[in-house]
Amino acid sequence: MEAEIIAVGTELLLGDILNTNAQFLSRELAALGISVHYQTVVGDNAERLENVVHRARQRSDLLIFSGGLGPTEDDLTKQTVAKAYGDELRFDEEELKKIQGFFRAWGRTMPENNRRQAYVPVNGRKIENHNGTAPGMIFEDTREKGKYAVLLPGPPKELQPMFLQTVRPWLASMSDSVLYSLTLRVMGIGESHLQEKIGHLLENQNPTAALYAKTSEVVIRITAKAKDLQSAKDLCSEYADRFYKILGDFIYTQTEDSLEETVVHILKEKGKSVATAESCTGGLLSARITAVPGSSEVFEYGACTYANHVKEQVLHVKHETLEQYGAVSPQVAAEMAEGVRRVSGADFGVGITGIAGPGGGTPEKPVGLVYVAAACADTTYVQKLVITGRTREIVRLSSTQRALDMIRRLALQLEQPGCRMFPAGTPADFPQDVQIKDV
Ligand code: ATP
Repeated sequence: MEAEIIAVGTELLLGDILNTNAQFLSRELAALGISVHYQTVVGDNAERLENVVHRARQRSDLLIFSGGLGPTEDDLTKQTVAKAYGDELRFDEEELKKIQGFFRAWGRTMPENNRRQAYVPVNGRKIENHNGTAPGMIFEDTREKGKYAVLLPGPPKELQPMFLQTVRPWLASMSDSVLYSLTLRVMGIGESHLQEKIGHLLENQNPTAALYAKTSEVVIRITAKAKDLQSAKDLCSEYADRFYKILGDFIYTQTEDSLEETVVHILKEKGKSVATAESCTGGLLSARITAVPGSSEVFEYGACTYANHVKEQVLHVKHETLEQYGAVSPQVAAEMAEGVRRVSGADFGVGITGIAGPGGGTPEKPVGLVYVAAACADTTYVQKLVITGRTREIVRLSSTQRALDMIRRLALQLEQPGCRMFPAGTPADFPQDVQIKDV
């Protein structure tokens, strides 16, 4: 089945809102094994909408619309689609009662305009909307069997549950096979490097595998189609093994868990604890760890040490180290990690110091330069990151992501790729040409 997504709304064309519905629908359809060949955005204009519907209906079996079901004059989608699919609309008393019920619950009287939302297809079916007034609908072409148009309202909190509760099961029921997806989360290898390593595995037909880049991590979604669920699961896990063979411990989980959840879980399992000393990330790392329920078992202490004198007083970073190398240096990161470990009594200490920007950079120490250190009893690891062309928020988030991965690797006693290691308590001797991680 070949599908096409059509988002209706002038707001989208003006750039006032982002087309996240197209992203959601594309991903969901891909997971169902349905190919999306086109995504279109069209404004609230009768003629242009008609042209788009006419062309899309000819080239695709399934059109999914988002938006344009509102009560205002310019919401024309359902009339246009009904006409194109040889159907008509009828007034539905039951829908009207529901819409009136929504307004009563909101303590308002229903404007006359909203009656328009109670029109549903004569031959097609309606899709219940439990979170808003506009029902969705499915039209089947009365002249050409097997061609469908699905209409969903624009607000994502309405569209998403309607898709998941009604449209997805309906699409799945048209197929005699079962789909299953498995997610691998990869940390420490950038998207383009990953493409080079595993590109050949992304060309497979069943299971399919797709990459989604997030901030400082990449998600690989493997989807298999089979006669029954167990066979689909088996296909996915066999295929996942091929990724594990190439990526090994760069894959940090095959669950939906975030990196911080994974780290807390591993620390608990290993009976280890951590403490953090942060400068440019201002407590973001400790906030991420402590947002995980049960983190009190593994998190000892989080220090946000911006000023140099606080780094000296609280963490016992040496005055000479700060003088000689500056606050943003591998030596200070290492002393912060060792210091917070000693002060807290935790098994592991983490230190982060860097320049989050947008100001404050120099040619030697540009914006985005960050040192992350992780210390255990006998060894301290330091990693240099240069996170270029990114916002302050992304520099901060990427730095904490790296730090979490270093904790994971310490707890699992894995190698620390891209890091230099030093015996604890020795000065971090860090040559300028050390490997740089451009995240
Ligand atoms: P309503 O019944 O609320 O009028 P509608 O189906 O007519 O809904 P629109 O009026 O097009 O939908 O959009 C309503 C709101 O839904 C927009 O202001 C926006 O916040 C959100 N929205 C619409 N289209 C999209 C989209 N493609 N991606 C993300 N959000 C969207």
